[in-house]
Amino acid sequence: MTEKGILIVVSGFSGTGKGETIKRLMGKYPRYVFSISATTRSPREGEQHGREYFFLSKEEFEQKISEGRFLEHANYVGNYYGTPRDYVEEQLAAGRDVLLDIEVEGALNVKQVFPEAVLVYLLPPSAKELKRRLSGRGTETEDVIKKRMSRSLEESKEIEKYDYVVVNDELDQCVEELHGIVSSEHNRTDRKRNFIEHISSELQTYLKGENIK
Ligand code: ADP
Ligand code: 5GP
Repeated sequence: MTEKGILIVVSGFSGTGKGETIKRLMGKYPRYVFSISATTRSPREGEQHGREYFFLSKEEFEQKISEGRFLEHANYVGNYYGTPRDYVEEQLAAGRDVLLDIEVEGALNVKQVFPEAVLVYLLPPSAKELKRRLSGRGTETEDVIKKRMSRSLEESKEIEKYDYVVVNDELDQCVEELHGIVSSEHNRTDRKRNFIEHISSELQTYLKGENIK
C-alpha cells in the first residue's frame, strides 16, 4: 500500500537559506526529491542546466506556459519561474515527498491546486543577518539585492497564509525542524485513511472467522 507523498512548499526571503536547507535535508534523508524549476534568469556561477534550474529563454518559457506544462508559474524581480507539472505528479504518486523552493505567489497557487500541500516559510534570524547572507553569497549586484529585499518586505505580508514558519538560525536545527514538520504531517489522520480502512477490513475478516492474510 503506497501512501501518496507530501508536497512541501518552501518559501522565504532571498538569501534566507532555502537552497542550503533543502540540499542538507536531501543529503540526510533519502525520502525527499526536489522539483527542479524552470527560469528565465541567467545561471549563477556554478549552476548547471537541469541541476539547479532548467534555464530557458523567455520564448521557450512562454511556449511551455501555453502548453500547460507548469503546475504554477510567477514573475520574480523581472524573471519567470515555474514548476514543471509532470515530475511533481509522478513523484507524489510514487510516494515520494516532493520539495518545491518557490516564492509566495506560486506557493499560494499550488495550495489552490493541491490543498493538501504543506506550506513552510523560512525566516532569517534578523534582517541584518539576511543582508549579510545575501551579500556574502556574492551572486547578485547591490541593485538586485535591494530589489530582492524590497520584494521580501512585500512577501512578509503573506506569511500568515503559510502552515508553518521555521527560523533558519543554525542550519542543522532548521533542517531537523523542517523534517519534523513533514514527519508529523505523515501522521495526520487524513493521510492515514487508507491504512485505517485496511486495518478495519482485516478486523472484519478476523471477526468472520477467516484467516487474515
Ligand atoms: P536562498 O536559497 O534562500 O536564497 P541560500 O541557500 O542560497 O539562500 O543561502 C544564502 C547564503 O546564506 C549562502 O551563502 C548560504 O551558504 C548561507 N546560509 C544559509 N543558511 C545559513 C545559516 N543557517 N547560517 C549561516 N549562513 C547560512
Ligand atoms: P533565485 O533566483 O534566488 O534562485 O530564486 C528567486 C525566487 O524564485 C525565490 O524566492 C525562489 O523560491 C523562487 N522560485 C524558484 N523556482 C520557482 C518556481 O518554480 N516557481 C515560483 N513561483 N517561484 C520560484
